[in-house]
Amino acid sequence: MEEKEYRLEVITPERVVISEEAEFLVVPAWSGELGVLKNHAPLVAALRIGVMRFTIRGQTRYAAISGGWLEVTEDKVMVLADTAELGAEIDIERAKAAKARAEARLASAQEEINMVRATMALQRALSRIKAAEAEMEYRKQSAPH
Ligand code: ATP
Repeated sequence: MEEKEYRLEVITPERVVISEEAEFLVVPAWSGELGVLKNHAPLVAALRIGVMRFTIRGQTRYAAISGGWLEVTEDKVMVLADTAELGAEIDIERAKAAKARAEARLASAQEEINMVRATMALQRALSRIKAAEAEMEYRKQSAPH
């Protein structure tokens, strides 16, 4: 492991999404965007639905997460999320369809509980679209010309 690297693990109830040596991480905490470099003070923070960005061997990558927890300890940084997808594995068409469904539900008058669910589904879909597009854009920019 290089001097500036730390172990980054992103785990959902279904799978280990990331288990790598990383240099930098930015997560959507409830308190705002939170950046983590090596030797960050120990911390637990609640996360929102959103996009996380991380750097591995100088390459920036993106993932969509549906809320959860960040835990920074002395030897590693863990993100525990209900769901998490790497930018490259996101099915954009599926996310766009989920976005359209959630918007249609929000447009129709329904019970409040369904509105909360639709709002969260919309946020997940938007995060997935954003993470997938950011990943594609980064790859395009960094591809050899
Ligand atoms: P959908 O209505 O498309 O299922 P959702 O927001 O209800 O979207 P979730 O319940 O959050 O989906 O996720 C269910 C599973 O599907 C999780 O494993 C999640 O990682 C995966 N997933 C959801 N949307 C996508 C997507 N667009 N691309 C890849 N995997 C996805």
